[in-house]
Amino acid sequence: MTEEKPLDFTREITSRLGGETITHCYQCGTCASTCPVARTTERYNPRQLIRLALLGQRDEVLKGDTIWLCASCYNCQERCPQKVEVADVIYALRNMAIREGNVPAIYMEFATGLMSEGRLAPISKFLEKKRTEYGLPPLKPANVEALKIILAATGFDKIMFKKEGASP
Ligand code: SF4
Ligand code: SF4
Repeated sequence: MTEEKPLDFTREITSRLGGETITHCYQCGTCASTCPVARTTERYNPRQLIRLALLGQRDEVLKGDTIWLCASCYNCQERCPQKVEVADVIYALRNMAIREGNVPAIYMEFATGLMSEGRLAPISKFLEKKRTEYGLPPLKPANVEALKIILAATGFDKIMFKKEGASP
C-alpha cells in the first residue's frame, strides 16, 4: 500500500481542475447530511471521503469504490458552508483514478459502448419494443465516426484505453 504524505496528496488534488477547494473543508458534515446516497448506504459519506483524502489516504481513495458512488446531484456543493466544491472534488478524484487505470468495470463498458456504437448502452430488442409500446419512434444509429473524432480530440480514448500518447 502506498503511504503518501497528506500534503502531497492534497497538493495533487488541488492542482487538478475541480479539486482546488478541498482544503477549505472543516468537517462540519453538512454534505453528508444532505447527500441522498449517504442516506441509502453506510458505504458512502462525502465528509469521510474528503477527510480520507486530506489525510493522504491515496490508495483507499483512488483504488476504492467510494468515489464512484456519488450521484453528482450537487446537493452538497450547494450547501457547503465553506464553499467546498464537493461534487467537483469527487470528479477530480475520479479523473485521477481513471488516469491510474482504476476504473470500475461498468464504466469501461460504457466507454466501450460509446466508442463502438456511440451510446453508453446498446439498443436492445427490449428497449425497441418498449419504445414501440409507448408510441416512440425507433432510435437512429449514432454518428460513431464523428463521435470518435470528438473523443480523440478530448483525449478520452487515450485516457480510458491507455493508448500511446496518453498524458500522465
Ligand atoms: S459541508 Fe463542506 S465543510 Fe462541511 S464537511 Fe462537507 S465539504 Fe467539509
Ligand atoms: S454530489 Fe455526490 S456527494 Fe454530493 S450530495 Fe450528491 S451524491 Fe452526495
